[in-house]
Parts: sequence; structure tokens; C-alpha cells
Amino acid sequence: MEEGDTSLNAPKLFILPGILVVIIPGLLVLLLLIGINIIGYGLELGFSRTVYNNEVEGTKSLINRRLQAVSVAVESTRAFFASGNEINKEEFDLFSSALVGSIAAGPIAMPITIEWVDANNNIRYAYPMNEDNAKVIGLDLNQYPNRLLSIEKAKTTRSTVVTEPIMLQQGYPGLILYSPIYRGGNYFGEALVVMRLSHLLAPVASSSLVYSKNEYIQTKNFIVPIGADVILNNSGERVINPQGDLVKDPAAQNYILPRTGEVSQDIVIADKVWQLKLTPSYIDSAYQRTELYAGISFVFESLFLFFLWFAYRRRGQIVSERNKIEKLANDLQKFKLAVDNASDQIVITDAEGIVIYGNRAIEKITGYKPEEAIGKKAGVLWRQPMGLEYYQNLWSVIKTQKKEYVGEITNIKKDGTVYTAIISISPIFDVRGALIYFVGIERDISKERALDKAKSEFISLASHQLGTPITAISWNVEALLDGDKGPISEEQKTVLKQIHESSKNMAELVGGFLDITKIEASGFPIEEGEVDLLQISDSVLNELASQITDKKIVLQKKYGDGIPYLAIGTKTARIILQNLLTNAIKYTPENGKVDITIEKTDNKVMIAVKDSGYGIPDEAKSRIFTKLFRADNIKEKVPMGTGLGLYLLKTLVERLGGRVWFESKEGVGTVFYVNLLIK
Ligand code: ADP
Repeated sequence: MEEGDTSLNAPKLFILPGILVVIIPGLLVLLLLIGINIIGYGLELGFSRTVYNNEVEGTKSLINRRLQAVSVAVESTRAFFASGNEINKEEFDLFSSALVGSIAAGPIAMPITIEWVDANNNIRYAYPMNEDNAKVIGLDLNQYPNRLLSIEKAKTTRSTVVTEPIMLQQGYPGLILYSPIYRGGNYFGEALVVMRLSHLLAPVASSSLVYSKNEYIQTKNFIVPIGADVILNNSGERVINPQGDLVKDPAAQNYILPRTGEVSQDIVIADKVWQLKLTPSYIDSAYQRTELYAGISFVFESLFLFFLWFAYRRRGQIVSERNKIEKLANDLQKFKLAVDNASDQIVITDAEGIVIYGNRAIEKITGYKPEEAIGKKAGVLWRQPMGLEYYQNLWSVIKTQKKEYVGEITNIKKDGTVYTAIISISPIFDVRGALIYFVGIERDISKERALDKAKSEFISLASHQLGTPITAISWNVEALLDGDKGPISEEQKTVLKQIHESSKNMAELVGGFLDITKIEASGFPIEEGEVDLLQISDSVLNELASQITDKKIVLQKKYGDGIPYLAIGTKTARIILQNLLTNAIKYTPENGKVDITIEKTDNKVMIAVKDSGYGIPDEAKSRIFTKLFRADNIKEKVPMGTGLGLYLLKTLVERLGGRVWFESKEGVGTVFYVNLLIK
């Protein structure tokens, strides 16, 4: 497996840790926050319930204290009348004023009315005597069955009795306490205390049930006796009982506050069960806080999950970035290894030619170690027989032409040995086009050159050595054919002719090899002498005259005017024209046509040899100038040939800075063109 694969696997491997790191802790935190909410809610609720219960108990005891005070007052009034004396109005007023005053000034501070009703149920005295109370003097209670019932009950039980809530004569809802008076065993009427319900129930109105600062519970309260057909609200106003059958709640002490709706609680006042109806405030902070906690939990949980998600992604990014960097580093390492250990010398210099990198091959090629090379000028290290200037020139040409230089070079090693190398120097530019580096690659080809030289020398020697025997064969065969050595039969003549042809071909081949080895070793003598192309062309045609006549070829010469002499040497000019014309005649059947055109164009002389011969097949066209190549279409028709002529021609023409090309159609003919520069 390659190192690169790890970067692909990383995200997959990360899924499991992702679950462990993100989801599980996320759920745990969520559960924790929910738990805190539940506990918080419970605490809030408990607190609210305690406040509520305390308020109810406190209110109840305040009302009972009022009732107790009032029953003490009615008891003492009864005792006052039962003392045995005839009680006159002044004495009653005096007594009542003290009593009413003491209650009004005492801790319960409640206005009451004290009255005396005689044994015939007529009200006789009332205190304080104000406009309202004046109405009741002389009132006959026999006409009020509700009151009579209480009076009768008090009389028979000889104890204080409280009426149901009733509509008082004074025009207010209220309660009356009757206490029976007995004087020496005789019934003497009733002492009574009258109070308004609103005064009795004032503690409800002033309790924190209504005015709780914390607003745990707010009452829209009213208090009603169970079973009563009236409901009095906390302003003492009479309202109709909407349910009619209010139910006593035995678990009232532990009432769980509902979020909305009414709460009712029974309290006992004046021996009667009263129901306290409360409406808790809708603004219930327990719920509010629960919602707040839930909201905060949600925000925290979201932030937490977001953070985890972010951390998870960031880690993923870091992992993949790290993988990328590692891969890059690995790739770079590979490149470095490859470059370090390449068999060619690779050198990077700055724009001034100072070496900043060199691979190991430097030592092998130049004898300098890479660390010796770094920091030094390339032209000083890679010494040139022509000196540092050579490199300086080379660099400036590369810099201005902005393209790589490839060529053969002769350098001197550290130990002074001269070596031949193929060198390529490439300029490297930055984005703004400024040259920043040169990259040089050098291969020592001294050995190859030596080998080539040895090969050429061998071929040259062999060709040379072969030349003499071949010439000898030719001469001797010619002598035989000429009949110098005695008469020969026709059959022998045919065989000797074949031998002669073959030895001629062999001589051409050997001559060709000799020329090629010379030319490849740059030893071919391109003479400086100026030549007249037209004259050479004529001379070659002369040599070919018998063949032209034999094959009945129509030859046409088109020599242009003012053809200059060219400094290419006779031998070269002959090779060019001989090859073009020989081929044209050789590869054209009888009765064909050959045209030779030589003309001047601008700074060139162009030679064109056109024939109406066999032509060159398309598949052979690309190889026509390669060494020893002969096209299939002519091999049978013209068996003699070397395949060296065009190769030699092209090599020579290009060495002269000229160009050679052709146009051909199989079965139609061929034109070869050669351009030679006029210098
Ligand atoms: P050679 O003629 O000895 O075979 P050359 O190098 O002169 O060798 O030519 C190479 C080949 O190019 C020939 O063998 C032939 O196939 C093809 N060729 C050259 N000139 C012509 C021509 N004028 N017409 C047709 N084919 C030609």
C-alpha cells in the first residue's frame, strides 16, 4: 500500500471517534441539563407551596382571632346584662363604648355593633348609635326566620351561636353572634355583636396571598361557606355561587399548584367550613424558571455541540492537511533521491551562475564533490578550454533568447583531464519573467565518442583495405571481357558481366562507407574551393550519357541566369548532383523524362531534378534519407544500389546550411530539391 492511501482512509477512520467524541458526551450533557431543570423546578414548586400554605394558615388564624375577640365581646355583653340590675340605656352605652373602643383600638382593629334584643325578640339597644344602627332600634326579629333559628339555638344550648352570612339591616352582608342572657334562671333576651363580613375577612384582602411581592400566588379570591347559596367576594359584594356544590378538598395542605385555574382550600371559621378560593398568578416563576433553564440548557447544548462539531471538522482538516503535507514531503523526497542519484550531472545555479545545488554525479564527471561545488561559479568549476568567457557568453545568449541550450561541449576535469559532454542548460524564470535559476544537465560522452571513433576508424580501415582487392577484381574482369586473356564464350561473358556489376556495386558501397565514416567523424574534406554547379552538372550528365541513350530518356536542362559559384568544393558538388541525377535515371523506365533545373532565388541556389519514374511509395517516404534504406518498389527492378547516396547527400547539404526535400507519387514520378546558400 502506498503512503498516499492514508489520506483517503483518514476520514473513514474518524467516524467512530466522531461518535464517541461528539454524540455520547452531547447526550450526557443534555441529560445533565435536563436533570438540573427537574431539580430546579422541584425546588421552585416546593418553595411556592410552602409560601402558599403559610399564607393560608396565617390568614385563617387572623380571622379566627377576630372571631374570638368578637365572641369574647358578646360573652362579656351577656355577662354585663346578666349581672342582675336593670340595665338602662346610659349604662349600656357606657359599657359598649368601652368594649367597641377597646376592640377598635386593639390588635384586630375591627368595627362592631353591640346590641340587646329583649325576650320578645325586639331590638332595644344598639351601640354606636349612628345613622345605620338607628334603623334597627325597635326591629322585631320574629319576622326573620334565619335569625330566629340562631336565637332559638342559642337559647336552648345556652351558648353563643353564629348566624349564616346574612344581609344585615344596615345594608351590608355580615354575621351576627347571639349570646343568651339568663337572670336568675329567667331568659332575658340576647346580647349580640354584629359585624360586616368585609371587616371579618379583611385579613384575606390584606394577606400576601393577594399582595405577595414574589407574585407566587395572586388571589382573585373570595371566601364562601360550604353549602351557602351566596358567595361574597373580598370586597364583601354578593355574588352567586356558580357551582353550588363546592367540594371540600381533604388534601388541601398538600395542594400542588396547578399552572392555571383555581385552587381551593377549606378553612374553619366560626364553627363553619369556609372555602378559600385562590387563583394562582399565571406568572408562575417556577414555570418561568423551568423555561429559562430549558432555554439556557438548549443554548449551552447547542454551543457545546457546535463546538464539538467544529473541533471534529477542524481535526479532520488538520489530518487531511497533514496527510497532504506528508505526501508532498514524500514526493519531494522521491524527487530529491532521483535527482541526487541520477547518472547525469544535474546542477542548479542562481542567475549569476553560482552553484546552489549539485547532485552526486558531479563528482563522477568533474571530480568535484557537490559540497565543493556549492557556492562557486559554474564556469570556474566546469573549466572550459576557452575559459570562463565561454560560459558567460552562453548564459547571456540563453538569458536573452529565453530558451534552453543543448549541445556538445569540451570541459576540463578537476584533475585536468579533458572530456566531451552533452550539455543542456535551461533558464528558469519567475512569474514576473525575471531569470532566477539555470538548470544544467551534463552527460559525459567521452567514452561513446571514443567508441564511435574506434568504429569509424575500423570501417574506414576495412573499406580502405577492401578497395584494393575490389579494384583488382574489376580490372581483371575487364581484362577478361576485353579478350586480353584469350577468347571467351558468350556464356562466360554474361557471368563475367555480372561479376563486374557486383564488384562495381561493392566498390560504390565501400566508397560510400568511407565517405560516411569520414563525414560522421567530421573528417570529410569540404573543400573551400568555389565551384560552377552548371559545369559539374554537365560533366555528370556526360558520364551518364550512355545510360540516358540506352534507356531512351528525354533529358531537359533548365539552367537559370547568373548562377554564382558556390564555395562548397568540387567533391561535395559532385556527390550532390551525381546522386540526384543517377537516381533519376536509375529509377525511371525506358522512354521516360528527366529534367534538371538549376536557378538562383534570393540568397540561394536551387537544384531540382524531376523524373517520370517509379516514384516513392508513401510508406517509404519518411525513411528515404536513412542509411542503407532502399524502397521495396525498386529493389526488384533495380537490384544494384547501396542506400547510402541520399543519406550522404542530406548530411552534406545540411552541413552546408542547405536543405533537401522531395515530392513524389508512386508510378508518376519524383522531384528532389536541394537549396544551397550563397555566402
Ligand atoms: P540507392 O539509390 O543506391 O538505392 P539512395 O540513397 O540514392 O540509394 O536512394 C535511396 C532510395 O531512395 C532508393 O533505393 C530508392 O528507393 C529511393 N529513390 C531515390 N531516388 C529516387 C527516384 N528518383 N525515384 C524513385 N525512388 C528514388
